[in-house]
Amino acid sequence: MDHFEYRDRTLFCEDVPVPELAEKYGTPLYVYSQATLLHHLKEVQTAFAEAKPVICYSVKANGNLSLCRLMGQHGSGFDVTSQGEFQRALKAGPAGAKIVFAGVGKTDAEIEFALKNGVFLFDVESEQELLAIGAVAQKLGVKANVALRVNPDLPPKTHVKTDTSVKGVKFGLDIETIIDVAKSVVGHPGLAVVGLHMHLGSPILKAEPYRQGCEKGVALIRAFRAQGHNIQYLNMGGGFGINYRKDEAKPASAFAEVILPAVRETGCQLILEPGRFIVGNAAILLSRVVFTKSTGGKHYVIQDAAMNDLIRPTLYGSLHRIWPVHPAAGVPVRPDVNGDPDDPNPFRAMPNCFNQDVVGPVCESGDYLAKDRPLPALTRGDLLAVFSAGAYGMTMASNYNSRVRAAEVLVTGRTHRLIRRRETFADLVACEEDCLT
Ligand SMILES: *Cc1c(COP(=O)(O)O)cnc(C)c1O
Repeated sequence: MDHFEYRDRTLFCEDVPVPELAEKYGTPLYVYSQATLLHHLKEVQTAFAEAKPVICYSVKANGNLSLCRLMGQHGSGFDVTSQGEFQRALKAGPAGAKIVFAGVGKTDAEIEFALKNGVFLFDVESEQELLAIGAVAQKLGVKANVALRVNPDLPPKTHVKTDTSVKGVKFGLDIETIIDVAKSVVGHPGLAVVGLHMHLGSPILKAEPYRQGCEKGVALIRAFRAQGHNIQYLNMGGGFGINYRKDEAKPASAFAEVILPAVRETGCQLILEPGRFIVGNAAILLSRVVFTKSTGGKHYVIQDAAMNDLIRPTLYGSLHRIWPVHPAAGVPVRPDVNGDPDDPNPFRAMPNCFNQDVVGPVCESGDYLAKDRPLPALTRGDLLAVFSAGAYGMTMASNYNSRVRAAEVLVTGRTHRLIRRRETFADLVACEEDCLT
């Protein structure tokens, strides 16, 4: 579900014609729909309502301050993976918003910052980290709340680069040794082991891995309690998949169905860290065709968004639907896509379309947003919408090729406003200029 739809062969975001945004703000441009974002937050809140969950929006999916503020205003806390994300949550969130801190490489300085700034709990990923948190907490004369992150050792469930719960990845404590680690810190003066954490990976399109994870989690919580730890929180992380193709994703209720029994059984307070599920379908990346070109039997659409704006296709081979903002007469108003995630070529032959590569101006053969994609003939100046670009789009953007990062716009109803201005050359060189001799 999203609020990007075609009306009379023009793409709208909520009630705003998308060309109006290109005109006003330029391209490439991230365009967010507030109603879509809040719909997905509400969907999670509703599906898990029975457990009164602490929802901690995962800032790394999209850390824009205005979007984080919106999340906070609608009852969300934050999941952060660095001091920078922690500071974003503090700046954008309401006072007292709950912030959980994950990540395998927290430095002492980051740990101290988190403790001084009211971290709700640390998701702890190694034995050394656990002891470091204990030491910093003791130095500050406080007790740190920690949830031990387990790697539950489940079968592969998503892209190898984003699967965080198979044996041997860098995340979490081994399920074979986590009980010994917990035992070693019983009574530690700087540590309160109050929770169990797992984040299985992302995106996950089935509920079954969460069921398997919960089963292992319930047994661990029992073991920790038997050791004397006062376990109050079960943190099941994020990872819920979204519709990149058609309708392959599960509703939040499907995940609730397998997670809620573990909450009932343990009596724990549930924490969730959704990122992609909230913001992924809430944005398009809007671009403009610069040139078209045919060579070696291939057809290229060269447009002004590139791998530095959206790296998911290059990095993970991810699929984003791409379609003209104004489909010409005789062209379908939206791409005809099969939603089977296992189908390597989900696009069917479409009238008046032919296969094209959608590429950007960056000097890399890996700079593409789509390959061999059925698209209608395009001409210079045409606008393209790259769908489902809200998560891990702008947060992974870079300045490669000295390209300024895109602007971001938030639409609500008939109104729109800039939530990040387009960078300038001055921004690009700001950190170097004073060093110039
Ligand atoms: C990335 C991450 C998330 C969010 O994952 P999504 O797929 O965006 O929901 C949640 N928790 C942790 C620990 C993460 O690293």
